[in-house]
Amino acid sequence: MAAARAVNLPDAAGRFGRYGGRYVPETLIPALDEITAAYQATKRDPTFKKAFFELLHDYVGRPTPLTYAAKLSDRYKRKIYLKREDLNHTGAHKINNAIGQGLLALRLKKKRIIAETGAGQHGVATATACALLGLKCHIYMGTEDMRRQQPNVFRMRLLGAEVIGVTSGTCTLKDAVNEALRDWVTNVESTHYILGSALGPHPFPMMVRDFQSVIGREARKQILKKEGRLPDLLLACVGGGSNSIGLFHPFLRDTSVRFIGAEAGGRGSALGEHAARFDGGTFGVFQGMASYVLQNTDGQVMGTHSVSAGLDYASVGPEHAWMRDTKRAEYIRCSDDQALAGLHLLSESEGIIPALESAHAIGVLPEVVKKTQNGAIIIINVSGRGDKDVAEVARFEGVKL
Ligand SMILES: *Cc1c(COP(=O)(O)O)cnc(C)c1O
Repeated sequence: MAAARAVNLPDAAGRFGRYGGRYVPETLIPALDEITAAYQATKRDPTFKKAFFELLHDYVGRPTPLTYAAKLSDRYKRKIYLKREDLNHTGAHKINNAIGQGLLALRLKKKRIIAETGAGQHGVATATACALLGLKCHIYMGTEDMRRQQPNVFRMRLLGAEVIGVTSGTCTLKDAVNEALRDWVTNVESTHYILGSALGPHPFPMMVRDFQSVIGREARKQILKKEGRLPDLLLACVGGGSNSIGLFHPFLRDTSVRFIGAEAGGRGSALGEHAARFDGGTFGVFQGMASYVLQNTDGQVMGTHSVSAGLDYASVGPEHAWMRDTKRAEYIRCSDDQALAGLHLLSESEGIIPALESAHAIGVLPEVVKKTQNGAIIIINVSGRGDKDVAEVARFEGVKL
């Protein structure tokens, strides 16, 4: 009963229980209404779906494989499968959403796209989708992040995007989001804002989830074909929450399937040292939505830390907050060190170097298997490939390249 209800969230107000909603300036409400209406229409439109799935197939390279991890399986006495989002064009799951929203922008007759980016992964995915679809692309990025992620800045420029440096606040992701929202308020007639994760004001959490649900739908079919039954557990890293909700959501009604999300435990449990929103966060409002937020007692949002830029965010998608409160999903923290161990483990045992974000899902595996029986089927989402992180891993481990 609860599971059936779950599938129909968010409600008409964009709420997952007390989470979600639209905490934005009044001037953006008409745009959010317009996107919601256009998006609802696309859901029923076979030509939109056809265009989306054709691009996922012919351009992104979907479906991605579900790879049996033989050595990990041996080691842990479980059947461990890897959903290979690392094999998508551009190297991660973010392109699924960027293409979906790019097509939606064409439908809304908006020729200009803006987006925020932290590490540059969502910026690159958005710039790619814009090049493909012939859309003008402006990417907001904190200048501190630009300095740390120069190759991605150059990639975006190669793809024809304009990268706009943001110098307010800490010059990082949250400041880039603020700046992108400000731009959107001013240019909403001509511009669509492609949000990069399953968060922000309604309808973004729902829309991003739906575009990313291709991950879970494929995985469900693939595991039924390979094993003849549903998995016992799904495991994914949780930044904003898009790769994890994309894997989990098509299994929401399957109450025998457990969900575990791995958050960035960083380098300690004090506020500011991690991005474990469910461990150290409290109910609050941040960047357009109600969710768990890492904040002080005045409601000031705190700085975060993670070895992986993609998990380094002070809040989390509202559907995860709801799943956590209703105990549909469980969230555990994975420290920087555990994540690095996870990266080594997957690289050495299966020949797959995961993104540092994805390595958080591998890093908690030794702990997660203890929650299951021998022979249990576990699917881990490998949300992206690790090429982008090789230099950072070397630096972290004191290796000179
Ligand atoms: C951005 C990113 C993440 C985190 O974002 P979610 O929205 O939580 O999926 C995870 N993995 C990779 C490879 C990323 O680029």
